[in-house]
Amino acid sequence: MTDKKIALVTGASRGIGAAIAVTLADDGYDIWLNYRSDHDAAQKVVEKVVACGRQCLLLPFDVADERAVEGALSPLLAAETPFILVNNAGFAQDGVMALMSHEEWRSVLNVHLDGFFLVTKLVVARMLRKRAGRIVNIVSTSGQIGVAGQVNYSAAKAGLIGATRSLAAEVARRKILVNAVAPGFIETEMTADLPVEKILPTIPLGRFGQAQEVADAVSFLCSDKATYITGQILAINGGIV
Ligand code: NAP
Repeated sequence: MTDKKIALVTGASRGIGAAIAVTLADDGYDIWLNYRSDHDAAQKVVEKVVACGRQCLLLPFDVADERAVEGALSPLLAAETPFILVNNAGFAQDGVMALMSHEEWRSVLNVHLDGFFLVTKLVVARMLRKRAGRIVNIVSTSGQIGVAGQVNYSAAKAGLIGATRSLAAEVARRKILVNAVAPGFIETEMTADLPVEKILPTIPLGRFGQAQEVADAVSFLCSDKATYITGQILAINGGIV
């Protein structure tokens, strides 16, 4: 483990990312908190991290923008290396494929896949030198099973599942563990407009999950209780898959 315990969480101004940031702060990590634009929401997460007795550094940048990622992270990584990286930033732009624009396809793949690549490439290079680290990618049930209207999002998350397994194999010798957490339907802004009554019968546990239930899985995968788990996809979905 690095001298100072740091966790970098992307897309952490609200929803699942915010819950992960606060949970890892409660686990004893200072937080590097990335988000794109919602400064007020990010500031509220800072207050919760500080209430856990940890420091929180705000890093607003678009994970899919190479220059922005390097500009924000390279100076920090020259001095310190996070033990944990959680690639959580993401969004969906649903629609049937026959009507999907190239931009709707590309923007979703960019955030999930390029975002993963750009951030992880910089961080894992530092982790390799330290011979320690945990990387958790937030994927989705949609990347595990087909979902109508989500061809772009499913492709992005399935791609991230493949990247998780390959990176895990690549860095295991240096004691860096790489896993993915695959949430089903979680109550956040992303799912706020979904037809709940139609969806509930498809979930064996009969309810949407909470962001905290995803955060607890991430916390476990980053803990000393998960030292022999790598390359795995942990589903948090109420039994859907
Ligand atoms: P959310 O409430 O919409 O929050 C998304 C977060 O990602 C926000 O902090 C947002 O920042 C940030 N973000 C979006 N695009 C970004 C970019 N290009 N660069 C940096 N940050 C960016 O979403 P959520 O429901 O918590 O979802 C979090 C992750 O879980 C996503 O990867 C999503 O695909 C995945 N997931 C969610 C569900 C679900 O049911 N909610 C299910 C499966 C998987 P700003 O606020 O500043 O824009």
